[in-house]
Amino acid sequence: MTESTFYEIPIEIRALKTASVYVVRTDSKTFLIDSGMRPSTEKELNEQGLDTGEIDGIILTHLHVDHIGGAMSIKKHHGSSIVMGRKDAELCLRIGEDPTGYLGFLESYYRSNGVSKEVLDQLVTDHPMRMEYARYNELEVDQMVDDAARPLNDPQMNLLMTPGHSPGSISPYLGNGEIFVGDLVLRTITPNISFYDESTDMLSIYLESLAKLKMLNFSRVNPGHGAPFSDLNTRIGEIEAHHRHRLDEVLGIIGHQSATAFQVTLQMKWSRGRTFESMNEFERNFAFGEAVSHIRKLTHDGLAEPHEKDGITYFRA
Ligand SMILES: [Zn+2]
Repeated sequence: MTESTFYEIPIEIRALKTASVYVVRTDSKTFLIDSGMRPSTEKELNEQGLDTGEIDGIILTHLHVDHIGGAMSIKKHHGSSIVMGRKDAELCLRIGEDPTGYLGFLESYYRSNGVSKEVLDQLVTDHPMRMEYARYNELEVDQMVDDAARPLNDPQMNLLMTPGHSPGSISPYLGNGEIFVGDLVLRTITPNISFYDESTDMLSIYLESLAKLKMLNFSRVNPGHGAPFSDLNTRIGEIEAHHRHRLDEVLGIIGHQSATAFQVTLQMKWSRGRTFESMNEFERNFAFGEAVSHIRKLTHDGLAEPHEKDGITYFRA
């Protein structure tokens, strides 16, 4: 028998407001899936009636701060083991050890993709990753998982590798048809697809993960934000349509004249009529990342090509 319980933890991200965490009890172990944004998650869970002392393992679906922030304090208090996808764990380690190096990569990438000096200073200074460095530095992962691994060797806890929202996103699932998807599929917003290195086509990787998920017919989806839901394939269909639409939009923008990724960001239509100017630093970073991931897929698919002028990369259809 397995049993899962859903908890909602307040977070400081205005578009989301809460993060969802889950407690899964198998015959032999208790797992926490994701951990909210702050060490205060533990207190929050205690207040909602959970004895955090029973947690054997904390599975982190991906490396974003609103999912990993509460893990270390629970581990310190109760000796729970932290389980994470290998690529995300390694990226956390790399950024934690050399935050300046990663910021330097971002800065030069923004600059060579046409971000103006003024916006660049703000984007790098207020980059969401900056807040995560402290957590990355202290994070101690006990089990880095790849394909076919089982968290804490529990035969009832399975894992699906579902990269795309981050390089090493994982989705734990149970034999009863329940899956815990992190931010791979969300009910009310489209998960942000961005970039973590110079060239990986994250959007194609993400769409492949969605396709894989669709084949498996899960009956209950436990997302990283919001309440559990059941009609997974309908929601995946909507997200796929959204990206097809956005790919067309970007292709249209660079079809008229070549443009940098930053110029594309400025011209794209964002949800709820927002403009780049009206976004906060978080949202600006997400918007630029979205533009980049769509341009990379178009380039990967042979529909766009880059060319360089004075050290700046432009794209044309
Ligand atoms: Zn999240």
